[in-house]
Amino acid sequence: MKITSNKLALITKMYCTLFGHEYQVSKKVTSHVKEYCCKYCKKELTTDSNGNLTELTPTFREINAILERIYQSKTERLKEKVINSSAYQQV
Ligand SMILES: [Zn+2]
Repeated sequence: MKITSNKLALITKMYCTLFGHEYQVSKKVTSHVKEYCCKYCKKELTTDSNGNLTELTPTFREINAILERIYQSKTERLKEKVINSSAYQQV
């Protein structure tokens, strides 16, 4: 009997149902929002605006992409500020 990938997916899903998902951080969006992926069934979760874990739907993926862009431009600006202020102090 050959085990098809479909059957294998079913087994891993059953494993998660029985023992729970084994989530690992797959992406850090901001310091508060992260994306998680189950290492067995590849189910994805994310942190919602209330700090709870919720299923990573296409909508949340979009929100996270926007959040990531805002967060990165913010930290970039913060870095520039630090560099500028330290340069100012040296003068
Ligand atoms: Zn799982």
